[in-house]
Amino acid sequence: MKNIKKTLAILGGDKVRTDLFPSYRTMMEEEKKAVMKVMDSGALSRYLGCWHEDFMGGDEVRALESEWAKEFGVKYAIAVNSASSGLQCAVGALHISPGDEIIVSPYSMCISATAPLLYGAIPVFADIEKDYFCLDPESVRAKITPRTKAILIVDLFGLPHNVAAIREIAKEHNLAVIEDAAQAPMAEYEGKLAGTFGDMGVFSLNYHKHIHAGEGGIIVTDDKELAERVRLIRNHAEAVVEGKGVEDITNMLGFNFRLTELQAAIAREQLKKVRNVVDERIENCKYLESKLSGMEGIVPAPLRPGTKHAYYIHPFIYNEEVVGIPRDVFVGAVKAELPLTGLREKEGVLMGAGYAKPLYLMPIFQQRIAFGKSGYPFTLSEPGAVSYEKGICPVVEDLHENSLITHEMMRPGMSRSDLDDVATAFLKVYEGRDLLKEKN
Ligand SMILES: *Cc1c(COP(=O)(O)O)cnc(C)c1O
Repeated sequence: MKNIKKTLAILGGDKVRTDLFPSYRTMMEEEKKAVMKVMDSGALSRYLGCWHEDFMGGDEVRALESEWAKEFGVKYAIAVNSASSGLQCAVGALHISPGDEIIVSPYSMCISATAPLLYGAIPVFADIEKDYFCLDPESVRAKITPRTKAILIVDLFGLPHNVAAIREIAKEHNLAVIEDAAQAPMAEYEGKLAGTFGDMGVFSLNYHKHIHAGEGGIIVTDDKELAERVRLIRNHAEAVVEGKGVEDITNMLGFNFRLTELQAAIAREQLKKVRNVVDERIENCKYLESKLSGMEGIVPAPLRPGTKHAYYIHPFIYNEEVVGIPRDVFVGAVKAELPLTGLREKEGVLMGAGYAKPLYLMPIFQQRIAFGKSGYPFTLSEPGAVSYEKGICPVVEDLHENSLITHEMMRPGMSRSDLDDVATAFLKVYEGRDLLKEKN
């Protein structure tokens, strides 16, 4: 390595780099044109919340839905205003009732675990796999009770879950599966696309995801009845069921989860780019991994056999015993070497020690307070039956506290030389780590 000023930035030396990393930008002329077309039409959304032709939304929404369904090889795609809304619709569509249990992952964005609560169902946390970070099938199995109705599984960081094992468990116990594929568009398991493995899959179009429309979400399914129920919940179900002649009104309390024509027009252009942006992420991660292959004790998380990763986040596994300093000290020192990223300056260097705190440690689960003050719906389970204590998922806690490193400095827009700077920062700190020992 040439030209590295050896003193670590965190000890007062020069940073590897001070110029901002380039922003991740997928909004181009095509999106501007698509938006202007909708603006010129004057109809920025066309939904009606009653049984009418426009109950299904306007031209852009419907075109997005049919294009998305085709791209993912599913029968139905339903556009909503976020993946959070989509997960809520999916839970409601399944006839989930208060007191039912849904097995969820402790490592994800919060809605992956809180969506059941909206229907009075109880989230039950299973542990995750230490290498792949998705729900561990054996832990899922151990959490099944007569009240369990579904598994809400996340393809975390863009890696598909253990589809074969989860499918087998679901079949054996007659459980529905909702697949949260918000981080995994175009990821594959045995040649099939993530998001299509459960009864319903959910994607996100929020600003931080691979492709976006500012905000937005898509639910995919091959089940006609589920698709119908999702559409009803999206758009004021209770005002529609009578006119439409829906007999089973379970969970037919609707919302306004509608995506606008403007966002749908943007999303249609974005969908055309999703394969490319995922492939570029894969290339960038491969390049970084080739540069970082010499660090004993810090290795890229393995790829599950038979899968293609979508790399929403690029994970590494850290071994403190081998490296000799705590993970958080290492991460702090690497961050000190690197610059912020354009358009996301306020978030600091896009690197983390761990990911989101294990979700059962959030106040909503620790205090069991969601609706009102009396503990509903948690009070619907038998006292002591469902635990949210620290320690219930030891694998996720160890990953979060000690051994997982995440970063996003591999998004398209990063040149080879930008990626070299990321690698140089890791290697500089790795080589100089002995000087960080005395600090502890
Ligand atoms: C981003 C994300 C969501 C929520 O997406 P929104 O569209 O912002 O509601 C849900 N689950 C996971 C795993 C996510 O990464």
